[in-house]
Amino acid sequence: MNTKIMTVVQCWDDGVTTDIRLTEVLRRYGAKASFNLCFGLHEKHRSFRWRHRDSDVFRLGRDELRGVYDGFTVANHSMTHPRLDLLPEDEARREIVEGREALQQHFGQRVAGFAYPFGAHSDTLMRLVREAGHTYARTIESDDYRFPPDDAMLFHPCCHFLAPDLLQRYESAREWGVFYFWGHSYEMVADSMWDEFERVIETISADQGSRWGDLEALFDDSA
Ligand SMILES: [Zn+2]
Repeated sequence: MNTKIMTVVQCWDDGVTTDIRLTEVLRRYGAKASFNLCFGLHEKHRSFRWRHRDSDVFRLGRDELRGVYDGFTVANHSMTHPRLDLLPEDEARREIVEGREALQQHFGQRVAGFAYPFGAHSDTLMRLVREAGHTYARTIESDDYRFPPDDAMLFHPCCHFLAPDLLQRYESAREWGVFYFWGHSYEMVADSMWDEFERVIETISADQGSRWGDLEALFDDSA
């Protein structure tokens, strides 16, 4: 039997207003999380972005970012969320470097993580993300989970938070010592989805065999 305590990490993308409700749930259970933000897309005040199902999605205003994410970790999701693999190398580098710098300046803390916009990655992007000072980068592929990843710039999560087999994957991840899920809070479009999500957080929090962890701390020792 594997009696090692498993570390559970999670991250959420795009800096939307439903992160307010999400962080309230997470705080209730003392759950840690990282939020992948595109600083260049946040206007002074919150702004309408798009429709998801039958709901309006708003991005948080710059004036509320610090408050919403207080106590959580922020990570870089590029400056403006382009398909980085379709950009010339110089422009991709600028998106990556400036996105990180803007977040560090705004939050006054070191930003170590990166999440590829649209999950698009390449050897060149992995190099640029590493050169910009990030210690890990997340994809959105979930079919080949292992920890530690073969390359920290290609960190595949265990699953999306709406995966129907999330708790099975949670059990399987004990083999690796780390369970990692991700998502967008705007995908929870009904109260029943929020309730179901809170039950997952409650279940994990009550598990003596695991603990919430900081994503970036997983890579503190990797040089
Ligand atoms: Zn995104």
